[in-house]
Amino acid sequence: MQKNIRIVLLNTSHPGNIGAAARAMKTMNLSQLYLVGPQYFPHADATARAAGADDILAQAHVVENFSQAIADCQLVIGASARSRALPWPVVDARECGEKVVAHASQGPVAIVFGREREGLTNEELQLCNYHVHIPCNVEYSSLNLAAAVQVLCYEINVAMLVNKANDAPQEAFDAPASHAEIQRFYQHLEETLVAIDFLDPNNPRQLMPRLQRLFNRVGLEQQELNILRGILSAIE
Ligand code: SAH
Repeated sequence: MQKNIRIVLLNTSHPGNIGAAARAMKTMNLSQLYLVGPQYFPHADATARAAGADDILAQAHVVENFSQAIADCQLVIGASARSRALPWPVVDARECGEKVVAHASQGPVAIVFGREREGLTNEELQLCNYHVHIPCNVEYSSLNLAAAVQVLCYEINVAMLVNKANDAPQEAFDAPASHAEIQRFYQHLEETLVAIDFLDPNNPRQLMPRLQRLFNRVGLEQQELNILRGILSAIE
């Protein structure tokens, strides 16, 4: 289960935060660190702040873009300190831990953390099934990156302990669809909606993000996705 849980850090600017995140993960029995375009890595500050969790750094997956980090994931949760223009399903830290553990027995899941200065973009957040917000002081809600990683990894560890004790039932009926499969479905859906003149490419407004939010909420399984793709092909 642990191998299916990945912590994804996007464009981290301070290598010290990468090391501190690795330490946070290791204390909570997690090991899969994905770094998307880190500004400096490897770096002495990362190793220093990892304080013995350098094995996590040594096996970290460094990738160029966000899609590469999450393509095979069937659940992606984006950590955000602020609420955004188009509201998305939001879970708190505890629910995040429970969801991650419920899905991780079936396939890879990702918890994604943003940049120290700007956090995650709206486009990146819209690629996520859920957003997680760590409940905190409403007037001072931005945790240090590694501190946010620590809180969410702690909740995952608690959920793993509870899961072990209960041998909890799985949430899905069938194999969940991967992130990449779902992105191909969105592409197909968009093309079909344009072809039938439902979606005006010159004035798309929020139609696709809203439809993505709907399907992301459902947690599509592979067979369901095949049915939807079949319907689109029949329309074409
Ligand atoms: N200044 C940025 C926040 C950067 S903090 C902003 O306003 O968006 C770096 C990252 O830590 C964030 O992108 C987010 O992934 C995580 N984080 C910080 N505080 C958080 C909180 N209260 N809940 C969830 N994630 C948080």
